[in-house]
Amino acid sequence: MLSDQQILRIPGPSPIPPSVQRAMSQPMIGHRDQETKELLQRIKPDLKPLFGTEQEVNIITGSGTAGLEAAVVNTVKPGDEVLVIVTGAFGDRFAKICAAYQIKTHRYDVNWGEAVTSDAIKEYLEKYPSIKAVFATFCETSTGVLNPVQEIAEAVHTHSNTLFIVDGVSCVGGVEAKMDEWDIDILVTGSQKAMMLPPGLAFIAVSERAWKVIENNTQPRFYLDLKKYRDNLDKDSTPFTPAVSLLFGLEQVLRLIEQEGLEQVYARHQLMMKMTRAAFNALDIPLLTTDKAASPTVTAIKPADFQADELRRILKEDFSLTMAGGQQHLKGRIFRIGHMGYCSPADVLQTISVIEIGLRKAGKTTELGKGTQAAQEVYLR
Ligand SMILES: *Cc1c(COP(=O)(O)O)cnc(C)c1O
Repeated sequence: MLSDQQILRIPGPSPIPPSVQRAMSQPMIGHRDQETKELLQRIKPDLKPLFGTEQEVNIITGSGTAGLEAAVVNTVKPGDEVLVIVTGAFGDRFAKICAAYQIKTHRYDVNWGEAVTSDAIKEYLEKYPSIKAVFATFCETSTGVLNPVQEIAEAVHTHSNTLFIVDGVSCVGGVEAKMDEWDIDILVTGSQKAMMLPPGLAFIAVSERAWKVIENNTQPRFYLDLKKYRDNLDKDSTPFTPAVSLLFGLEQVLRLIEQEGLEQVYARHQLMMKMTRAAFNALDIPLLTTDKAASPTVTAIKPADFQADELRRILKEDFSLTMAGGQQHLKGRIFRIGHMGYCSPADVLQTISVIEIGLRKAGKTTELGKGTQAAQEVYLR
């Protein structure tokens, strides 16, 4: 086996394009020098379309969770009431961040594997009019669900005066997001999922409505104070030393996305989702989510007659192919395939055909090639 070949099919970190890898190896520059200013000047306008916003996208050096925590500490303070929509492990994280800051947190729990409905949120907000912010997960990475954030945004803003805050960490850059048009107040993402970068950057875009709340919020904060990021970004700068190498990479990522075309990027993710789902349907192996609730960036599979973790172990050992397992109560019960960022239909075909070998070795009697063929047919359609 090639010792340096890793086939990374987890929902983040995801593989890095070679040209991005090269861009990141450039010699260091001073973060207060003209070069960094110009780098940020080039990056700023090209980030906006990924979020579907005219607002500047703030860049925090930190993992995706830094972006989530920034969204919390900047908009609410202890004692405020919020609603967190929990459709899996990452909704749960948002709720835990709120609880850590002594925010009065209402949880709206949805069965893992299902998407939330906007009607449910509408009813909830009518019942609790003192809620100041609603937190939701766009792609719930732990289950492979894409929540209907456009519909939820509409329900939130027509039935209340609350902010609508969205964790888009595992999909922004791979799934269409129209923050301004859909009326999302804060949209967060991270670098290591659909953005084709290593971990280390969080991105956070903020609406006019949210900036007003942020300006009046007395909750103390320092490193994650979004006003600092905004005021510095206005001057093509950052409040603290940024992860300069990741910014080099980001510029190249944005170039790659521009070359492919954002619409084409989204279409590629849709296609990879459909190919993956068709393969498991053909193999008669249950998927965790319905087609309607499925995310274009990650697919969760819930086997009935073989061990998910045994299959993962075999693929890791034989092919250095890594898939993710389940989180919390789904541990050992599902496996998840990431198909986001630097991932192509050819990569999906490789993954499926290798899984078919793994299934045999895990003791499942399936006809070799059946899943691959179904995925190929989806591609050709
Ligand atoms: C990966 C992920 C995060 C952030 O995780 P970090 O480990 O802090 O980068 C947050 N939300 C979702 C939906 C994710 O998939």
